[in-house]
Amino acid sequence: MAHNSYGLAGKEVGPKALRFDGQTVVVTGAGGGLGKAYAVFFGERGANVVVNDLGGSFKGEGQSTKARDVVVSEIINAGGKAVANYDSVEDGDKIIETAIKSFGRVDVLINNAGILRDISFKNMKDDDWDLIMKVHVKGAYKCTRAAWPHFRKQKYGRVINTASAAGLFGSFGQCNYSAAKLAQVGFTETLAKEGLKYNILCNVIAPIAASRMTQTVMPPDVLENLKPDWVVPLVAVLVHPSNDTETGSIFEVGAGHMAKLRWERAKGALLRTDDSLTPGAILKKWNDVNDFSKPSYPTGTANFMELLEEAQKLP
Ligand code: NAD
Repeated sequence: MAHNSYGLAGKEVGPKALRFDGQTVVVTGAGGGLGKAYAVFFGERGANVVVNDLGGSFKGEGQSTKARDVVVSEIINAGGKAVANYDSVEDGDKIIETAIKSFGRVDVLINNAGILRDISFKNMKDDDWDLIMKVHVKGAYKCTRAAWPHFRKQKYGRVINTASAAGLFGSFGQCNYSAAKLAQVGFTETLAKEGLKYNILCNVIAPIAASRMTQTVMPPDVLENLKPDWVVPLVAVLVHPSNDTETGSIFEVGAGHMAKLRWERAKGALLRTDDSLTPGAILKKWNDVNDFSKPSYPTGTANFMELLEEAQKLP
């Protein structure tokens, strides 16, 4: 990537500051937390911002218009351009319609809206599972599906989906959320492949930031170092037109730290595909199946036709 200089959210000046003049950025769940930080940043950097939020509780209960109206006023009072959208991400087409009606285009979509329904798996009810899937998985799908034809037509689009460490590594009491968050990874990786030839680049972040979602589980001194503002610059880098290569990637980001994550494949074992391929034969090669001393980093499935031919050649 060609980027070599960027600063903190909204504080950067000079020719190297990444700007978004004339672009329309849709941020879902922008009434508070990370979404608000993105919206304010893009407003400061010249974008037309669609500030979407349903305004319910962090468990997905109720609705209110206050939070996103405050964000829209903040952007406009600072000289930026913003409109509010009050729909749920489950009605993503209405959110994209707001962008098109208000600004005539959509260039960047940040799928950020989210809720929690934490509960141990033993006590999980269908409602806890379904609501999380609706908001995170269906929500990201509906918003992206509605933006996609515009991106394809204009041969330009940038998408950020929001995963979580809970999805990548698992987290006690968050089975529903973990499943929905890892879904963002598969969703992004396929969108990246399908979008590439239309210059639609899609990446997924696993953020960590102080918000109403984390304020009850972390102490104040830790939260102080987890400002949502510290997540924004990486997102800006990824959705800026100067990024023309980075797509289908997973980034962990928070507290000033950012790092890419990727899949790692062990050495593995290759066995003849005949009746010698038994559980016992696998157990004999168990160390190879688990041997990460010389890993590879796959971006697609193993080439099974090649492996089949290799296996036939084994003694
Ligand atoms: P937050 O609760 O402050 O923000 C989420 C926003 O989404 C809220 O303003 C909420 O009203 C809105 N929202 C919820 N359901 C909606 C719906 N159906 N339609 C439209 N808007 C809706 O929390 P946050 O921490 O800023 O979370 C932002 C995203 O980051 C979420 O997807 C969350 O899962 C993810 N995340 C956050 C952290 C963290 O450390 N804060 C960690 C991992 C992932």
